Amino acid sequence: MRENSQTPERPDEIERWPRARLESWHLERLAEVVAHARANVPFYSARWLQAGFGEGQIESLRDFERIPIVSKQDLIKARESWANSADGPVGFSTRGTSGEPLVLWLDAAEEEIYIRPTMRGFRWAGFRPAMTALLMSPVWHRLAACEAHAVVRLGGNCAFFWGSLGADNMDSFVRTLFSVRPEFVTTTAPFLLAMVRRGAQGGLDLAEAFRSVESVVAVGLPLTPRMREFLAERLGVGDVFERAGTQEGAALDDCRLHAMPHVHEDVCYLEVVDANGAPVAPGRRGRLVVTKLAPAGSVFVRYDTGDIAAFAVDPCKCGCGFRRLKIYGRPESSVMVGERMITAYDVRIGVERDSALLGRNVLLIRDRSAASGVLTVAIEGERSDGAEGVEERLCAELGVERVKILWLGGLRINWGFRQVIDGREIGISNG
Ligand SMILES: [Zn+2]
Repeated sequence: MRENSQTPERPDEIERWPRARLESWHLERLAEVVAHARANVPFYSARWLQAGFGEGQIESLRDFERIPIVSKQDLIKARESWANSADGPVGFSTRGTSGEPLVLWLDAAEEEIYIRPTMRGFRWAGFRPAMTALLMSPVWHRLAACEAHAVVRLGGNCAFFWGSLGADNMDSFVRTLFSVRPEFVTTTAPFLLAMVRRGAQGGLDLAEAFRSVESVVAVGLPLTPRMREFLAERLGVGDVFERAGTQEGAALDDCRLHAMPHVHEDVCYLEVVDANGAPVAPGRRGRLVVTKLAPAGSVFVRYDTGDIAAFAVDPCKCGCGFRRLKIYGRPESSVMVGERMITAYDVRIGVERDSALLGRNVLLIRDRSAASGVLTVAIEGERSDGAEGVEERLCAELGVERVKILWLGGLRINWGFRQVIDGREIGISNG
Protein backbone atom coordinates (compact mmCIF):
# COMPACT_ATOMS: atom_id res chain seq x y z
CA MET A 1 0.00 0.00 0.00
CA ARG A 2 2.73 2.40 0.91
CA GLU A 3 4.04 2.82 -2.55
CA ASN A 4 4.20 6.05 -4.33
CA SER A 5 5.16 5.99 -7.97
CA GLN A 6 5.24 9.78 -8.43
CA THR A 7 8.50 11.17 -9.71
CA PRO A 8 9.89 13.73 -7.28
CA GLU A 9 9.95 17.19 -8.79
CA ARG A 10 13.20 19.01 -9.35
CA PRO A 11 14.28 22.11 -7.44
CA ASP A 12 12.76 25.28 -8.85
CA GLU A 13 15.00 27.36 -11.00
CA ILE A 14 13.48 30.52 -9.56
CA GLU A 15 15.27 29.90 -6.24
CA ARG A 16 18.57 30.58 -8.01
CA TRP A 17 17.54 33.58 -10.08
CA PRO A 18 19.64 36.70 -9.69
CA ARG A 19 17.88 39.36 -7.64
CA ALA A 20 17.30 41.71 -10.61
CA ARG A 21 15.49 39.01 -12.56
CA LEU A 22 13.30 38.15 -9.57
CA GLU A 23 12.48 41.83 -9.05
CA SER A 24 11.32 42.36 -12.61
CA TRP A 25 9.28 39.16 -12.38
CA HIS A 26 7.72 40.52 -9.14
CA LEU A 27 6.76 43.70 -10.89
CA GLU A 28 4.90 41.77 -13.59
CA ARG A 29 3.07 39.67 -10.97
CA LEU A 30 2.17 42.73 -8.89
CA ALA A 31 0.76 44.50 -11.95
CA GLU A 32 -1.29 41.38 -12.70
CA VAL A 33 -2.65 41.12 -9.15
CA VAL A 34 -3.49 44.84 -9.06
CA ALA A 35 -5.35 44.57 -12.40
CA HIS A 36 -7.22 41.50 -11.12
CA ALA A 37 -8.19 43.27 -7.87
CA ARG A 38 -9.30 46.41 -9.71
CA ALA A 39 -11.47 44.45 -12.13
CA ASN A 40 -12.96 41.96 -9.67
CA VAL A 41 -12.95 43.31 -6.13
CA PRO A 42 -15.18 46.38 -5.66
CA PHE A 43 -13.60 47.07 -2.27
CA TYR A 44 -10.16 47.69 -3.81
CA SER A 45 -11.34 49.67 -6.83
CA ALA A 46 -13.37 52.02 -4.59
CA ARG A 47 -10.60 52.38 -2.02
CA TRP A 48 -7.95 53.09 -4.66
CA LEU A 49 -10.13 55.62 -6.43
CA GLN A 50 -10.59 57.43 -3.13
CA ALA A 51 -6.83 57.43 -2.53
CA GLY A 52 -6.06 58.87 -5.97
CA PHE A 53 -4.81 55.58 -7.40
CA GLY A 54 -7.88 55.01 -9.56
CA GLU A 55 -6.33 53.98 -12.86
CA GLY A 56 -2.74 53.95 -11.60
CA GLN A 57 -0.47 51.47 -13.38
CA ILE A 58 2.35 49.49 -11.78
CA GLU A 59 5.54 50.26 -13.62
CA SER A 60 7.86 50.35 -10.64
CA LEU A 61 7.86 49.32 -6.99
CA ARG A 62 7.39 53.00 -6.14
CA ASP A 63 4.04 52.88 -7.99
CA PHE A 64 3.07 49.82 -6.02
CA GLU A 65 3.97 51.49 -2.73
CA ARG A 66 1.45 54.25 -3.45
CA ILE A 67 -1.38 51.76 -2.99
CA PRO A 68 -3.06 52.21 0.38
CA ILE A 69 -2.34 49.55 3.01
CA VAL A 70 -5.47 47.80 4.30
CA SER A 71 -6.17 46.15 7.63
CA LYS A 72 -8.25 43.17 8.68
CA GLN A 73 -10.83 45.57 10.09
CA ASP A 74 -11.14 47.21 6.65
CA LEU A 75 -11.89 43.83 5.07
CA ILE A 76 -14.36 42.80 7.77
CA LYS A 77 -16.14 46.16 7.35
CA ALA A 78 -16.13 45.85 3.56
CA ARG A 79 -18.00 42.52 3.77
CA GLU A 80 -19.45 41.54 0.38
CA SER A 81 -17.52 44.12 -1.56
CA TRP A 82 -14.32 42.29 -0.60
CA ALA A 83 -15.46 38.75 0.21
CA ASN A 84 -17.84 37.97 -2.65
CA SER A 85 -15.18 38.41 -5.28
CA ALA A 86 -13.42 35.26 -4.05
CA ASP A 87 -14.70 32.35 -6.04
CA GLY A 88 -12.87 29.47 -4.42
CA PRO A 89 -14.66 26.32 -3.35
CA VAL A 90 -12.61 25.81 -0.15
CA GLY A 91 -12.97 28.16 2.80
CA PHE A 92 -10.65 28.72 5.76
CA SER A 93 -11.48 30.69 8.84
CA THR A 94 -8.74 32.61 10.63
CA ARG A 95 -8.49 31.87 14.35
CA GLY A 96 -9.67 35.31 15.27
CA THR A 97 -7.08 35.65 18.07
CA SER A 98 -6.96 39.35 17.38
CA GLY A 99 -10.67 39.91 16.86
CA GLU A 100 -13.35 38.64 14.55
CA PRO A 101 -12.37 35.68 12.34
CA LEU A 102 -12.17 36.27 8.62
CA VAL A 103 -13.16 33.57 6.15
CA LEU A 104 -10.75 33.16 3.25
CA TRP A 105 -11.40 31.23 0.07
CA LEU A 106 -9.08 29.06 -1.93
CA ASP A 107 -9.64 27.98 -5.50
CA ALA A 108 -7.97 25.12 -7.30
CA ALA A 109 -5.45 27.36 -9.09
CA GLU A 110 -4.32 28.91 -5.85
CA GLU A 111 -4.04 25.59 -4.06
CA GLU A 112 -1.82 24.49 -6.93
CA ILE A 113 0.36 27.58 -6.57
CA TYR A 114 0.84 27.06 -2.84
CA ILE A 115 1.81 23.39 -3.11
CA ARG A 116 5.09 24.44 -4.76
CA PRO A 117 6.53 26.37 -1.79
CA THR A 118 5.47 23.59 0.56
CA MET A 119 7.40 21.08 -1.55
CA ARG A 120 10.39 23.41 -1.52
CA GLY A 121 10.25 23.86 2.26
CA PHE A 122 10.01 20.11 2.79
CA ARG A 123 12.93 19.50 0.43
CA TRP A 124 15.00 22.01 2.43
CA ALA A 125 13.98 20.14 5.58
CA GLY A 126 15.41 16.93 4.14
CA PHE A 127 12.34 15.21 2.75
CA ARG A 128 13.28 12.50 0.26
CA PRO A 129 11.25 10.12 -1.92
CA ALA A 130 9.82 7.08 -0.15
CA MET A 131 9.85 8.80 3.23
CA THR A 132 6.71 8.79 5.34
CA ALA A 133 5.46 12.02 6.85
CA LEU A 134 3.14 12.37 9.82
CA LEU A 135 1.24 15.59 9.16
CA MET A 136 -0.95 17.95 11.10
CA SER A 137 -4.60 17.96 10.29
CA PRO A 138 -5.26 20.40 7.43
CA VAL A 139 -7.66 22.45 9.54
CA TRP A 140 -4.65 23.99 11.20
CA HIS A 141 -3.80 26.43 8.43
CA ARG A 142 -4.28 26.85 4.70
CA LEU A 143 -0.57 26.06 4.31
CA ALA A 144 -1.16 22.79 6.16
CA ALA A 145 -3.79 21.93 3.57
CA CYS A 146 -1.00 21.81 0.97
CA GLU A 147 1.24 19.46 2.96
CA ALA A 148 -0.22 16.13 1.84
CA HIS A 149 -0.12 17.22 -1.82
CA ALA A 150 3.53 18.23 -1.40
CA VAL A 151 4.52 14.93 0.23
CA VAL A 152 2.84 12.87 -2.47
CA ARG A 153 4.44 14.89 -5.27
CA LEU A 154 7.84 14.52 -3.63
CA GLY A 155 7.39 10.78 -3.91
CA GLY A 156 6.55 10.18 -0.26
CA ASN A 157 3.69 8.83 1.79
CA CYS A 158 1.73 10.57 4.47
CA ALA A 159 -0.45 9.98 7.47
CA PHE A 160 -2.44 12.55 9.43
CA PHE A 161 -2.61 12.93 13.16
CA TRP A 162 -6.28 13.50 13.76
CA GLY A 163 -6.88 15.52 16.85
CA SER A 164 -6.06 18.86 18.38
CA LEU A 165 -2.46 19.41 19.38
CA GLY A 166 -3.25 20.01 23.02
CA ALA A 167 -1.84 18.46 26.19
CA ASP A 168 -4.71 15.94 26.28
CA ASN A 169 -3.59 14.38 23.01
CA MET A 170 0.09 13.76 23.75
CA ASP A 171 -0.40 10.07 24.43
CA SER A 172 -2.37 9.45 21.27
CA PHE A 173 0.21 11.41 19.28
CA VAL A 174 2.97 9.18 20.67
CA ARG A 175 0.93 6.05 19.88
CA THR A 176 0.55 7.38 16.32
CA LEU A 177 4.32 7.84 16.05
CA PHE A 178 4.77 4.21 17.10
CA SER A 179 2.32 2.91 14.54
CA VAL A 180 3.31 5.13 11.60
CA ARG A 181 7.07 5.30 12.28
CA PRO A 182 7.51 8.45 10.15
CA GLU A 183 10.84 9.92 9.08
CA PHE A 184 9.29 13.38 8.82
CA VAL A 185 6.85 15.15 11.17
CA THR A 186 5.02 18.47 10.95
CA THR A 187 3.49 19.85 14.13
CA THR A 188 3.35 22.92 16.36
CA ALA A 189 6.20 24.16 18.51
CA PRO A 190 4.01 24.52 21.65
CA PHE A 191 2.96 20.87 21.31
CA LEU A 192 6.59 19.73 20.99
CA LEU A 193 7.60 21.81 24.02
CA ALA A 194 4.75 20.34 26.04
CA MET A 195 5.88 16.83 25.07
CA VAL A 196 9.48 17.60 26.03
CA ARG A 197 8.27 18.74 29.44
CA ARG A 198 6.21 15.56 29.91
CA GLY A 199 9.24 13.57 28.79
CA ALA A 200 11.43 15.27 31.40
CA GLN A 201 8.90 14.37 34.08
CA GLY A 202 9.18 10.74 33.03
CA GLY A 203 5.75 10.66 31.42
CA LEU A 204 6.79 9.90 27.85
CA ASP A 205 9.63 7.96 26.26
CA LEU A 206 10.46 10.54 23.61
CA ALA A 207 13.65 8.91 22.39
CA GLU A 208 11.72 5.77 21.53
CA ALA A 209 8.70 7.64 20.14
CA PHE A 210 10.80 9.79 17.79
CA ARG A 211 13.34 7.06 16.95
CA SER A 212 12.46 6.94 13.23
CA VAL A 213 12.15 10.72 12.83
CA GLU A 214 14.86 12.58 10.93
CA SER A 215 13.24 16.00 10.58
CA VAL A 216 10.55 17.91 12.42
CA VAL A 217 8.91 20.97 10.91
CA ALA A 218 7.48 23.20 13.63
CA VAL A 219 4.97 26.03 13.27
CA GLY A 220 3.13 28.38 15.56
CA LEU A 221 5.91 30.06 17.53
CA PRO A 222 8.95 31.98 16.33
CA LEU A 223 11.76 29.68 17.50
CA THR A 224 14.87 31.14 19.04
CA PRO A 225 18.09 29.43 17.88
CA ARG A 226 18.63 27.85 21.29
CA MET A 227 15.05 26.65 21.55
CA ARG A 228 15.31 24.97 18.16
CA GLU A 229 18.51 23.17 19.16
CA PHE A 230 16.99 22.25 22.51
CA LEU A 231 13.99 20.66 20.81
CA ALA A 232 16.14 18.66 18.39
CA GLU A 233 18.30 17.41 21.22
CA ARG A 234 15.46 16.50 23.60
CA LEU A 235 13.38 14.80 20.92
CA GLY A 236 16.48 13.02 19.65
CA VAL A 237 15.76 13.95 16.02
CA GLY A 238 18.21 15.01 13.32
CA ASP A 239 16.93 18.54 12.92
CA VAL A 240 14.04 20.91 13.65
CA PHE A 241 12.92 23.43 11.03
CA GLU A 242 10.80 26.52 11.48
CA ARG A 243 7.88 27.06 9.13
CA ALA A 244 5.89 30.26 9.24
CA GLY A 245 3.15 31.94 7.32
CA THR A 246 -0.09 33.79 7.51
CA GLN A 247 -3.53 32.78 6.28
CA GLU A 248 -3.40 35.79 3.97
CA GLY A 249 -0.66 34.29 1.85
CA ALA A 250 2.77 34.78 3.44
CA ALA A 251 4.77 31.53 3.36
CA LEU A 252 8.24 31.02 4.86
CA ASP A 253 10.54 28.08 5.60
CA ASP A 254 13.92 27.50 7.20
CA CYS A 255 16.66 26.30 4.88
CA ARG A 256 19.25 23.85 6.19
CA LEU A 257 21.36 26.74 7.56
CA HIS A 258 18.55 27.98 9.88
CA ALA A 259 19.81 31.51 9.52
CA MET A 260 16.24 32.96 9.38
CA PRO A 261 13.35 31.57 7.32
CA HIS A 262 13.30 32.31 3.57
CA VAL A 263 10.22 33.96 2.09
CA HIS A 264 8.75 31.91 -0.76
CA GLU A 265 8.94 34.90 -3.05
CA ASP A 266 7.24 33.15 -5.93
CA VAL A 267 3.88 33.16 -4.10
CA CYS A 268 3.92 36.28 -1.95
CA TYR A 269 5.41 39.75 -1.98
CA LEU A 270 6.24 40.90 1.54
CA GLU A 271 7.04 44.36 2.86
CA VAL A 272 8.08 45.60 6.30
CA VAL A 273 6.79 49.10 6.99
CA ASP A 274 6.82 51.65 9.81
CA ALA A 275 3.79 53.23 11.52
CA ASN A 276 3.36 55.60 8.55
CA GLY A 277 3.50 52.81 5.99
CA ALA A 278 7.00 53.71 4.79
CA PRO A 279 9.41 50.82 4.10
CA VAL A 280 11.97 50.11 6.82
CA ALA A 281 15.51 48.97 6.06
CA PRO A 282 16.49 45.28 6.34
CA GLY A 283 17.49 44.44 9.90
CA ARG A 284 14.94 46.84 11.36
CA ARG A 285 11.54 45.84 12.65
CA GLY A 286 8.22 46.98 11.38
CA ARG A 287 4.79 45.68 10.47
CA LEU A 288 4.45 42.87 7.97
CA VAL A 289 2.45 43.72 4.85
CA VAL A 290 1.45 40.91 2.47
CA THR A 291 0.46 40.81 -1.17
CA LYS A 292 -0.54 37.43 -2.46
CA LEU A 293 0.89 36.93 -5.93
CA ALA A 294 -1.85 34.58 -7.10
CA PRO A 295 -4.70 36.42 -8.85
CA ALA A 296 -7.13 33.87 -7.40
CA GLY A 297 -9.14 33.09 -4.28
CA SER A 298 -9.40 35.84 -1.64
CA VAL A 299 -7.43 38.84 -2.85
CA PHE A 300 -4.86 40.48 -0.58
CA VAL A 301 -3.06 43.55 -1.83
CA ARG A 302 -0.85 45.40 0.68
CA TYR A 303 -2.58 43.80 3.64
CA ASP A 304 -1.23 44.70 7.08
CA THR A 305 -1.06 41.40 8.99
CA GLY A 306 -0.30 43.11 12.29
CA ASP A 307 2.79 40.90 12.70
CA ILE A 308 6.09 42.36 13.83
CA ALA A 309 8.83 41.33 11.40
CA ALA A 310 12.24 42.21 9.96
CA PHE A 311 14.12 41.24 6.81
CA ALA A 312 17.64 39.80 7.07
CA VAL A 313 20.37 42.17 5.94
CA ASP A 314 22.44 39.82 3.74
CA PRO A 315 21.61 37.07 1.26
CA CYS A 316 21.70 33.55 2.71
CA LYS A 317 24.83 31.45 2.23
CA CYS A 318 22.73 28.47 1.10
CA GLY A 319 22.53 29.92 -2.41
CA CYS A 320 18.78 30.50 -2.49
CA GLY A 321 18.09 34.03 -3.67
CA PHE A 322 14.82 34.45 -1.75
CA ARG A 323 14.99 37.06 1.00
CA ARG A 324 14.85 35.94 4.61
CA LEU A 325 12.47 37.34 7.17
CA LYS A 326 11.67 36.65 10.80
CA ILE A 327 8.17 37.10 12.14
CA TYR A 328 8.73 37.96 15.81
CA GLY A 329 5.13 37.94 16.93
CA ARG A 330 1.86 39.74 16.92
CA PRO A 331 0.86 42.73 19.01
CA GLU A 332 -0.88 40.27 21.36
CA SER A 333 2.42 38.45 21.93
CA SER A 334 4.16 41.67 22.93
CA VAL A 335 3.86 44.43 25.53
CA MET A 336 4.60 48.13 25.29
CA VAL A 337 7.08 48.98 28.00
CA GLY A 338 7.32 52.74 28.02
CA GLU A 339 7.88 53.49 24.33
CA ARG A 340 9.34 50.11 23.42
CA MET A 341 7.49 47.17 21.99
CA ILE A 342 8.90 44.03 23.60
CA THR A 343 7.98 40.66 22.15
CA ALA A 344 8.00 37.35 24.02
CA TYR A 345 10.66 36.24 21.50
CA ASP A 346 13.04 39.01 22.60
CA VAL A 347 12.62 38.07 26.24
CA ARG A 348 13.21 34.39 25.52
CA ILE A 349 16.48 35.16 23.73
CA GLY A 350 17.73 36.91 26.87
CA VAL A 351 16.41 34.32 29.33
CA GLU A 352 17.79 31.36 27.37
CA ARG A 353 21.37 32.59 27.53
CA ASP A 354 21.21 30.77 30.83
CA SER A 355 21.12 27.09 29.87
CA ALA A 356 19.40 26.16 33.13
CA LEU A 357 16.37 28.15 31.99
CA LEU A 358 16.01 26.50 28.58
CA GLY A 359 12.69 24.75 28.08
CA ARG A 360 10.91 26.68 30.80
CA ASN A 361 7.85 28.57 29.74
CA VAL A 362 8.31 32.34 29.87
CA LEU A 363 5.35 34.70 29.73
CA LEU A 364 5.12 38.46 29.61
CA ILE A 365 2.70 40.02 32.05
CA ARG A 366 0.61 42.90 30.87
CA ASP A 367 0.02 45.29 33.75
CA ARG A 368 0.02 48.93 34.68
CA SER A 369 3.69 49.11 35.62
CA ALA A 370 4.64 48.64 31.92
CA ALA A 371 3.64 52.24 31.25
CA SER A 372 6.29 53.41 33.71
CA GLY A 373 9.03 51.34 32.08
CA VAL A 374 8.88 48.12 34.11
CA LEU A 375 8.79 44.84 32.21
CA THR A 376 7.24 41.99 34.21
CA VAL A 377 8.15 38.45 33.18
CA ALA A 378 6.91 35.18 34.65
CA ILE A 379 9.28 32.19 34.46
CA GLU A 380 8.39 28.66 35.55
CA GLY A 381 10.35 27.12 38.38
CA GLU A 382 12.67 28.64 40.96
CA ARG A 383 15.56 30.96 40.37
CA SER A 384 18.40 28.58 39.59
CA ASP A 385 22.09 28.98 40.35
CA GLY A 386 23.60 31.17 37.72
CA ALA A 387 20.33 32.97 36.99
CA GLU A 388 21.20 35.83 39.32
CA GLY A 389 21.98 38.26 36.56
CA VAL A 390 18.94 37.63 34.40
CA GLU A 391 17.16 40.91 35.28
CA GLU A 392 20.25 42.99 34.51
CA ARG A 393 20.83 41.11 31.28
CA LEU A 394 17.27 41.64 30.10
CA CYS A 395 17.39 45.36 31.00
CA ALA A 396 20.56 45.81 28.97
CA GLU A 397 19.43 43.75 25.97
CA LEU A 398 15.88 45.07 25.77
CA GLY A 399 16.62 48.68 26.67
CA VAL A 400 14.06 48.87 29.46
CA GLU A 401 14.56 50.55 32.82
CA ARG A 402 13.60 47.70 35.08
CA VAL A 403 12.73 44.03 34.78
CA LYS A 404 10.74 42.28 37.44
CA ILE A 405 10.74 38.46 37.38
CA LEU A 406 8.04 36.38 38.98
CA TRP A 407 9.38 32.87 39.62
CA LEU A 408 6.39 30.57 39.39
CA GLY A 409 7.83 27.63 41.36
CA GLY A 410 5.83 24.49 40.65
CA LEU A 411 3.08 26.31 38.76
CA ARG A 412 3.05 25.08 35.17
CA ILE A 413 1.65 27.13 32.33
CA ASN A 414 0.46 25.47 29.16
CA TRP A 415 2.62 26.20 26.17
CA GLY A 416 0.53 28.27 23.80
CA PHE A 417 0.64 30.81 21.05
CA ARG A 418 -0.25 33.88 23.05
CA GLN A 419 2.73 34.31 25.40
CA VAL A 420 1.38 37.43 27.08
CA ILE A 421 -1.12 37.27 29.91
CA ASP A 422 -2.84 39.41 32.42
CA GLY A 423 -1.26 38.61 35.81
CA ARG A 424 -4.68 37.80 37.25
CA GLU A 425 -4.95 34.79 34.93
CA ILE A 426 -2.34 32.97 36.98
CA GLY A 427 -3.39 34.45 40.28
CA ILE A 428 -0.83 37.23 40.37
CA SER A 429 -1.96 40.69 41.24
CA ASN A 430 0.81 42.98 40.18
CA GLY A 431 0.54 46.73 40.14
ZN1 LIG B 1 19.21 29.76 3.18
